[in-house]
Amino acid sequence: MFKTQIVKLLSRKYATKTKIAVSKPIVEIDGDEMTKIIFAEIKNKLILPFVELGRDYYDCSLPNRNATKNQVSKDAAEAILRHNVGIKCSTITPDEERVKEFNLTQMWPSPNGMIRNALNGTQFRESIICRNVNKYVRGWTKPIIMGRHTFGDQYGGKDLTIEKPSKIYLTVKTGDHEEKFEIFDYKNRGVAMVTFNTEDSIRNFATSCFRMALERQFPVYFATKSTLLKQYDKLFNDVFLEVYEKNFKSKFAQANLTFELRLIDDMAAQAMKSSGGFLWALKSYDGDVLSDVVGQGFGSMGLMIHSLISHDGRTIMTEPAHGTVTRHFREYQKGVKVSTNPISSIFAWTRGLQHRAKLDNNPDLGSFAQTLEKSTISTVEEGLVTKDLAPCVFGTEFREDQYLGTSEFIDKVAQKLGKLV
Ligand code: NAP
Ligand code: MG
Repeated sequence: MFKTQIVKLLSRKYATKTKIAVSKPIVEIDGDEMTKIIFAEIKNKLILPFVELGRDYYDCSLPNRNATKNQVSKDAAEAILRHNVGIKCSTITPDEERVKEFNLTQMWPSPNGMIRNALNGTQFRESIICRNVNKYVRGWTKPIIMGRHTFGDQYGGKDLTIEKPSKIYLTVKTGDHEEKFEIFDYKNRGVAMVTFNTEDSIRNFATSCFRMALERQFPVYFATKSTLLKQYDKLFNDVFLEVYEKNFKSKFAQANLTFELRLIDDMAAQAMKSSGGFLWALKSYDGDVLSDVVGQGFGSMGLMIHSLISHDGRTIMTEPAHGTVTRHFREYQKGVKVSTNPISSIFAWTRGLQHRAKLDNNPDLGSFAQTLEKSTISTVEEGLVTKDLAPCVFGTEFREDQYLGTSEFIDKVAQKLGKLV
């Protein structure tokens, strides 16, 4: 009896000193402003004290993208394909003002486009549910996973201004054969747009969504406006049906899960009165808009998880669902205590580590990541929150002493985590 107690005590003491071993590295992509500060705190207080983690580091902050002529973004994208897990901090997408602010030689693009093209994946977003955070849509008690296609449509298309009375045509050239379609006869100034998509990319998107839904045991709804776009959206619908029938129907039946094609307006209305608990697949533009609507409906954008998963399911990039929070960073630069919510960034780390754990069959790492997520949620559920969550927890008349600064919040999570691992 005495001997077992000593062994237990010793192993507990030993356990607190032993970090979880991870055999393969993750790709760490650093970024800008407030999220850069938050990422460093998360790493130093919540990850590295507990996990012996190899990190292939790329500094994609705007000054370094400028110094390397953006080579660093290309290198980071390639590294993610090599190591299969990328954890990315938010980065500035420069505009004219940023070009002046950082004295840039060019308006370097965001690394996201490059990584998105390299991964050719699906973007998934999901809100973290905390019991005490009042949701704007009260009925949503289960998560809604938003699956967004990230190829073509308005994001790869061409839009232009027509200045004078003109006619526009669409020409399809197949070998030497040309077919011309008249689109519109302008009597005055106007605009035009052409978008495109491919069957292969839609097939990959559908496969990712069905695979994710099976993993999470959620039914799938794919919503388009196929009554309006009888060729364009019909191809999306046909491909979803084909992939489902061929590869997923029996697995879905076994798991008692369903798949339905929906009209987007009908689905938007249905979603509002649902209790959540489904995967909502959407074309790129619809996913961009509706994932923000759903994120806010669950309480705060600061509670959103964001990941990009390759269509074969092997490679993942996680990042916060928000930008670099410039307004808060300006305060931070002045030395003012800021209260930016780090939860979306914490979950970028945990979801990246969970994927590493799954690929390497490392249950210790997987359960560490889950414990960190639980510690974060239970900190919020004890009423310890950053300013953005204060109105959702204490009402709009909340007091200044009812919320914590960013570092204080991370410290509270670290205390909880330290007791659990
Ligand atoms: P943002 O960084 O998402 O912030 C917009 C506002 O949302 C903030 O001012 C703040 O509102 C609130 N907010 C966002 N995240 C928050 C958090 N974690 N905690 C509390 N409040 C939060 O968007 P932005 O100001 O439009 O963009 C800033 C920079 O980020 C831009 O340079 C943009 O290019 C970049 N960006 C990068 C990515 C990416 O890397 N994936 C994505 C989007 C934007 P209050 O001011 O009301 O407190
Ligand atoms: Mg958006």
